[in-house]
Amino acid sequence: MTVREEIKQLKREKNAIILAHYYVSPEVQELADYIGDSFYLSKIAAETDAEVIVFCGVSFMGESAKVLSPGKTVLMPDAGADCAMAHMADPETIEKMRDEYDDLAVVCYINSTAELKRYSDVCVTSANAVKIVRALPNRNIFFIPDRNLARFAASQVPEKHFIFNEGFCPVHEKMKAEEVRRAKEMHPAAEVLAHPECTRELLELTDYIGSTSGIISYAEKSGAKEFIVCTENGVRYELEKRCPDKKFYFPETEPVCRDMKLITPEKILHVLKTGENAVRMEAEICEASRKPLERMLELAR
Ligand code: SF4
Repeated sequence: MTVREEIKQLKREKNAIILAHYYVSPEVQELADYIGDSFYLSKIAAETDAEVIVFCGVSFMGESAKVLSPGKTVLMPDAGADCAMAHMADPETIEKMRDEYDDLAVVCYINSTAELKRYSDVCVTSANAVKIVRALPNRNIFFIPDRNLARFAASQVPEKHFIFNEGFCPVHEKMKAEEVRRAKEMHPAAEVLAHPECTRELLELTDYIGSTSGIISYAEKSGAKEFIVCTENGVRYELEKRCPDKKFYFPETEPVCRDMKLITPEKILHVLKTGENAVRMEAEICEASRKPLERMLELAR
């Protein structure tokens, strides 16, 4: 049997589904039952009837799936796949901000550890951050951990007062505005699509700013035939699948998240066979970090 066939058989036997983020490699996306961004995958994790979720992504995604479906087994194909940005805030600063500001909402990007989420009032994703911040009754917003998504949300919701945290995604921050300018010179008809984790200077050069799924549906609907895409290059697979007649270029630095690329079909097969790398969380952390995630799902409805 091939790896693919074995995975298929084990999925049936164990009532398992495979969730994959758009940033994992194409051969992993091909095996998935659901492919999407963090928001979509968190909804699937919360709603699925499957007993086992194989989460092809980084550790905070597995944690969120476990928090939203505590009775299910969540398996991570590579236990070491982590997101650097997920750790770039700390509970001490959050507590300090709460003392300093009345009427403070701590808004936590889903790309964060469960430990950070438990100190927060609500989670957001890049797809719903603006909508959720706007819907909050609070005027003061401490947005963690990503400074770039925070600045983008602040520009869209000027009636709120934002306090920024200095976290960032190394993959998105590495793309420079200068590269996009050069790419535009080479492809003058191309539209520039960017993820809000990119820097403000880069975002100023764009035709569209949105989450990974927002970028994909924009490219699908746009009348343009060429695009300069400023997000992790795993998204190329879905873009080319949905828009076979369009061309997609990436900045010269070729944005690649090494942790996302640690996931392979062989590792999926291994965890399905052995049950290794099951996400385990302390009940207290699980309970406390569920509240901001559930509040996000409610407010985003
Ligand atoms: S692309 Fe950036 S935000 Fe996404 S998992 Fe990798 S390091 Fe984290």
